[in-house]
Amino acid sequence: MTAPIVIVGAGLAGLRTAEELRRAGYDGGLVLVGDEDRLPYDRPPLSKQFMRGEVDDTTLRPSAFFPDKRIDIRLGTAAVGIDPTARRVQLASGAALDYEHLIIATGLRPRHLPDLPELTGLHVLRSHADAVALRSEVTASATALLVGAGFIGCELAASFRAIGAEAVMVEPQATPLASVLGTHVGALIARMHREEGVDLRCGTGLITLHGDDTGRVRAAQLSDGTEVAVDLVVVGVGSRPETDWLAGSGIELTTTSVGGGVPTDEVGRTSAEGVWAVGDVAAWRDETGVCRRVEHWTSAGEQAKRLACALLGVERPATARVPYFWSDQYDVKIQSLGTPSVGDDVHVVADDGRKFLAYYAREGVLSGVVGAGMTAQVMRARPMLATPTPVTELLALS
Ligand SMILES: Cc1cc2nc3c(=O)[nH]c(=O)nc-3n(C[C@H](O)[C@H](O)[C@H](O)COP(=O)(O)OP(=O)(O)OC[C@H]3O[C@@H](n4cnc5c(N)ncnc54)[C@H](O)[C@@H]3O)c2cc1C
Repeated sequence: MTAPIVIVGAGLAGLRTAEELRRAGYDGGLVLVGDEDRLPYDRPPLSKQFMRGEVDDTTLRPSAFFPDKRIDIRLGTAAVGIDPTARRVQLASGAALDYEHLIIATGLRPRHLPDLPELTGLHVLRSHADAVALRSEVTASATALLVGAGFIGCELAASFRAIGAEAVMVEPQATPLASVLGTHVGALIARMHREEGVDLRCGTGLITLHGDDTGRVRAAQLSDGTEVAVDLVVVGVGSRPETDWLAGSGIELTTTSVGGGVPTDEVGRTSAEGVWAVGDVAAWRDETGVCRRVEHWTSAGEQAKRLACALLGVERPATARVPYFWSDQYDVKIQSLGTPSVGDDVHVVADDGRKFLAYYAREGVLSGVVGAGMTAQVMRARPMLATPTPVTELLALS
């Protein structure tokens, strides 16, 4: 009997890959291994609707879905190693699973700041358990310190303000989201947070935290020389690919490609025969030949589709890949199409209160479009991002 396809990581990318394999006609054994106790769930609402208490359940598929699709889902089970020669994956329980193909979909782990004292009230946000712990402490009378004004920090600041909590956000760079969208657009996002009452301090870092006699965080010492009284702290300083369990497997890992992770070809094949990688942990080779990780929801689903078709040898219609992500902050949806990068020329063509639209260009060619509250205008640019288009063409239309 042929061994099953084993997917390690029961998050969005793992689940979508299982679904796409079935959709593409795969009829053999399918095992989905996840170290969390929960059915696969959606993470984007954790910093938004879930944090504001508007939704409680972000489960992606009901439990009946798995037997129905003949997906053998094993929760609360971590994979601890792979032997690609024997085609076997080792589980923490001591059991081992033979596989025909193995798919690595283990996502990211949030980075911590190593020198902080261990105090209650100090949080990170990646998992449902993290979100439950954080939500239980955010009240209208709380003051929260957000360390890092990336997506997690900015979305939480917006959710905390919606609840009525005070938010202090510190960011060593010149603006929020500077390393993703650059400082030009970052300044527009900073303006929005300040208008909403966030005490945003750019060019400022966290030095240390102080606790009270019970071991609970009470104050934060900042690099601007001030000390602020806080009830809770969220460290949102990025994440690292969850690849520790692959150490010694011989599967190539990289720290040199953009963001590290498991490098693959353009359909998810790793350096080891029969081993694939998908989602946030995977550094897929892009059109320019660079292996690059993309930590976004839409990309996980698109990769799952491509990987499943390639693994099964099924033809799929060629479609141009135009990367997309969104972030909900206050009453606007910030959306990005293409590959806007720090260092691109930025043309802000609309700036109406908190709504804005910006075109990014590299050597005169449109590289990305970022908008806030401008869905139609952002989406209209998709065909122009699918083929090289001089940015002047769009500028002429605005
Ligand atoms: C709070 C939050 C908000 C977000 N908001 C947005 C947004 O607004 N827009 C957007 O585009 N993207 C957003 N994202 C990103 C998006 O959720 C991710 O891109 C997506 O979850 C990636 O899916 P994944 O399956 O690769 O990783 P994950 O969802 O992290 O799943 C990986 C799974 O593998 C498990 N695992 C790890 N190691 C092992 C092991 N050894 N054995 C077994 N299981 C293991 C993990 O516990 C986890 O369950 C957000 C993410 C977070 C955390």
